Amino acid sequence: MKKKILIVVLALILVGGVIASAILIPKMKYANDSADTEELYRQNVALVNYENTIETAIPQTELYNMVKEHFESPLAEGKTEKKAIIIGYDGCRADVLKEIQAENSAINSLLDDGASINLAYCGGVNYPQENTQMTSTAPGWCSILTGKWADEHKITGNGITKAVEPKTLLTTLTEEKVIDSASFITRWAGHFTDDDATYLEEKAYCEENKLNVSFNKCKNDEASHEYTLNEISKKDCADFIFVIYEPTDSTGHSYGFTINNPGYVEAFKAADKYGFEVLNAIKARPTYDTEDWLIIVTSDHGGFGTGHGHESIQERMTFIVSNKKINDNVDNSTSKPEENKTETIETTPTTSENIIMETKKHHANLPESTTTDTFLYVTKVEIEKLPTKTTYYVNEEFSLEGIVVKAYLDDGTVVDVSDDVTLQYIPTTAKPGTKTVVLEYVDNFNDFLNLWTAEFVITIIEPETTTLADEETAPDTTATSTEEATDL
Ligand SMILES: [Zn+2]
Repeated sequence: MKKKILIVVLALILVGGVIASAILIPKMKYANDSADTEELYRQNVALVNYENTIETAIPQTELYNMVKEHFESPLAEGKTEKKAIIIGYDGCRADVLKEIQAENSAINSLLDDGASINLAYCGGVNYPQENTQMTSTAPGWCSILTGKWADEHKITGNGITKAVEPKTLLTTLTEEKVIDSASFITRWAGHFTDDDATYLEEKAYCEENKLNVSFNKCKNDEASHEYTLNEISKKDCADFIFVIYEPTDSTGHSYGFTINNPGYVEAFKAADKYGFEVLNAIKARPTYDTEDWLIIVTSDHGGFGTGHGHESIQERMTFIVSNKKINDNVDNSTSKPEENKTETIETTPTTSENIIMETKKHHANLPESTTTDTFLYVTKVEIEKLPTKTTYYVNEEFSLEGIVVKAYLDDGTVVDVSDDVTLQYIPTTAKPGTKTVVLEYVDNFNDFLNLWTAEFVITIIEPETTTLADEETAPDTTATSTEEATDL
């Protein structure tokens, strides 16, 4: 233990010493919510070729039926085994599918092969009225896996442990011997690792009853991906695989869940690339031709600002992309022609007409369209030079003079923002020793306000007590020594 502490101390000293060209770490970044309007959201959703509309969105619980019916239906001719996979993009909004890539995209690849693509909703049965469960991770995936809403599974939010019943598809299908095995792969500890994780009891039940259901908590998305690819490469891989990728959710929480945030769009592409590699791994199975795979890509909830849980349309809409048609018993027959889609803006379900008129008036005052063309995004903020003074006498006034800080924008521009750097608090120089100074910089090149921070260390020393220079206690160089002496 002591050794560990020593290493940490040494590391801190080293960081203090080599920070001359430090990169500031963005700690907080939040969307300007007013730019992420419902109207813009609806316009972007209309640009994705969804087979249904926001008004005819499918309950996310339908995924349960899709998987169950896939396994329970008879095998098609020439097929010897059924398999299914749900690839989850956690916190992925339905409008961001507008940015589907031609290459390296699971969704694009599935659509090329004739997949169906539908809007779905989370947040409870009441849609589009008020939520009966949070638009959050645990309730969303739980509704997908149990086919029920929180009135039955009781998972109204994160941090609630579900009773064994209602069981998830993984357990039910395995227990009923519809499938041989199931595998749940995730990096989030809230599913079955934390003390208040959702599936703690169900996991224990599976272990007690020696059911072939594996719960795999991986350390990050890369590890989840590696685990999934490895599972698929096995000759006898799990019959039902459920994997969740988190880039969209984690990026959304840090930088804003909005299509206006290029980082969020990139996170979607990263998740969709994982999905693409999963598809390739499935197709590469030597037994693929004789297997009947149901492949689904979906999300648990959307997001708004840097969060989710509430009932904005941006949080409540999800999507289902499936290589098989959505069950006929779901009312998604109202597939609208393109030109009708924009008209749905006029028929927004609402409880108060006054509110919506006021909102529309407000929207009318916004620029014609908020395009991403002129959107500038700060990719990096770098301290090129620390302040001239890093050694102070006791009670000497702290100064940022001489600091050089550059902001790098995504269009390649580099901007000197030295004058905009501030301090989290003014360091006191009342006592000798070292002090950590926290620098802050807020970038505002666009609708996002991003707080960047960095730390460096200053040294405070006692002033000379005699007129005779004492080399051992004087500041590092004679130049600063003289300068500082005159400042006293
Ligand atoms: Zn989530």
